[in-house]
Amino acid sequence: MSQRITDSLEVLKLIRKIARQNPQMSACSWRREAVADVAASRDVEPNTIFAHLSGKNEPPHTLGARELDLRIKAWINDGSSDLEKWILLSCKNHDKNLVLQFFSNEQSTPLATDIEEPETTERQFVTTYRVLRDTALAREIKVDNNYKCQICGEGILLAEDKPYAEAHHVKPLGSPHNGPDHRDNIVCVCPNCHVKLDYGAIEIDQNRFENVLLPEFIRYHNKVIHKKTL
Ligand SMILES: [Zn+2]
Repeated sequence: MSQRITDSLEVLKLIRKIARQNPQMSACSWRREAVADVAASRDVEPNTIFAHLSGKNEPPHTLGARELDLRIKAWINDGSSDLEKWILLSCKNHDKNLVLQFFSNEQSTPLATDIEEPETTERQFVTTYRVLRDTALAREIKVDNNYKCQICGEGILLAEDKPYAEAHHVKPLGSPHNGPDHRDNIVCVCPNCHVKLDYGAIEIDQNRFENVLLPEFIRYHNKVIHKKTL
């Protein structure tokens, strides 16, 4: 196994442990702490470990810290396989089996909390930010909808008639919502409707979206994000 993969898997194992103990910390903090620990145990600079983790010598697959942290976060919180896919793509052939083995052993149990805790959710001040980075799935859903907003029907054309739409996760990704990156949790929307959904300005019509979204996610939006009073 190459040193890069030994180091990276060591770091990821540690990240998993740190994240379980400190779910409230950011993915960046999990990663930094894990990188520092592995660097100390091998008596090398943290930069060397980070370079291995981010695939610095594997262009064009090298990832920036932010991109890397987003994948780590999705892996820890939602069991996303984006991180695994990227490592497989960027590693040498003789390392692939070990990577596959690692991820199947470390099979992530999603730490997602569910709608059981509306009281806490309502009392907390929650800062929301919009994850605009598209997953392959989000792009697929936009294509399926012909880049038309599923809320208002609007389609936007950019320069050279390039269509533009955004993907919205109805039960948002990331803490504290921890919604999944699944087809039945995603709608194709225009930027206006995206903001309205993100900030709970509008309700989602259960009947209109019953074959598109999982009812659980529509209820979550209406109850927790839109704060509908029943
Ligand atoms: Zn719209």
